[in-house]
Amino acid sequence: MNQLFRETWIEVNLDAIKKNIQSIRRHIPKQTKIMAVVKANAYGHGSVGVARHALEYGATSLAVAILEEGIVLRKAGIVAPILVLGFTPLSRVKEAIAWNIELSAFQADWIKKADKIIKSTAFTNRLNIHINIDTGMGRLGVRTKSALLSVVTALTSSSSLAWTGIFTHFSTADEPDHTLTKAQHELFVQYLRYLKERGFELPTVHMCNTAATIAFPEYSADMIRLGIGMYGLYPSAYIRQLNRVKLVPALSLKSRFSYVKTMLTPPFTISYGATYIAKRGEVIGTVPIGYADGYSRALSNRGFVLYQGRRLPIAGRVTMDQMMVSLGEGSGKQGDEVVIYGKQGNREIPVDEIAEMLGTINYEVVATLSNRIPRLFL
Ligand code: PLP
Repeated sequence: MNQLFRETWIEVNLDAIKKNIQSIRRHIPKQTKIMAVVKANAYGHGSVGVARHALEYGATSLAVAILEEGIVLRKAGIVAPILVLGFTPLSRVKEAIAWNIELSAFQADWIKKADKIIKSTAFTNRLNIHINIDTGMGRLGVRTKSALLSVVTALTSSSSLAWTGIFTHFSTADEPDHTLTKAQHELFVQYLRYLKERGFELPTVHMCNTAATIAFPEYSADMIRLGIGMYGLYPSAYIRQLNRVKLVPALSLKSRFSYVKTMLTPPFTISYGATYIAKRGEVIGTVPIGYADGYSRALSNRGFVLYQGRRLPIAGRVTMDQMMVSLGEGSGKQGDEVVIYGKQGNREIPVDEIAEMLGTINYEVVATLSNRIPRLFL
């Protein structure tokens, strides 16, 4: 730890990631493959480290949101299939083929242009394409059977592209009302049937995120796209209370006091806006983390950290790189460890609790942890 420039770091518990993948594995059919979703720096956990270990623990491919994230993994020496889930501009198709990264597509025109671009290069490998079907997410994807037929026809008649997957994405699989998920599934099945009836042989079929995998394992198909569950977080309270798959949070966020002082003489004000006035004799610790690290400023005067088995409240506003906590009448010293998210002894600050305080979801709390925090894989 001594090598850190600033003593704030993320610990990623590899055993937790392994157990989460294994728990999900037991919940789905044997032949279903697991694609580990490592977009957004593996939901803040560190993409290269998570990707490497997820592959070791049974995932067979990876998903990212943007091509650049896939290139980072390739540059780190990862050779497993990588799929870009989002839209890739045609201007980036050459990089996709150069790095052997699979792309999602849903427009015949895009397919035809991509085919021409690749033919103009010296690459001899094909660009693998997964077709995205919009069954109710309303984000990207084919929206009619005739559009699907045009996309598949363009793809199967291309000599520089290969059709390797077809997928959809659920919008409400984490909710107790299953109506829309069932309707999305039915629509997806209709699209697949439509293609089979026209003599097309289907490539890898996939639709389930974590929530759908847990709530509808019968929809697992050829592959699931496992994101939040791999990190040990539940997609929603509803999915957690189904009690079907035990998940263990993998991430802890830790720091060390950069300064501890007893407030004996004025000034007693703490941080911007002087929104916190310390009492005479109160002990205040400074923690070197702030909103530029992804620790929300909205936690000013509301959040807390764990120190020696106690929750210490944040005193005053969270600043860009630092914040203060109150030790009350307790004592502490520079260099002592505090836990910002995760466990310390038998106490815990769950990411879910912070998400709830912030009126958001656990995904956002971890995915916004910035790149300047080092990730340690333990
Ligand atoms: N598939 C797609 C298309 C996604 O956008 C995502 C993440 O948002 C996932 C799978 C993984 O979802 P989750 O993290 O809920 O498992």
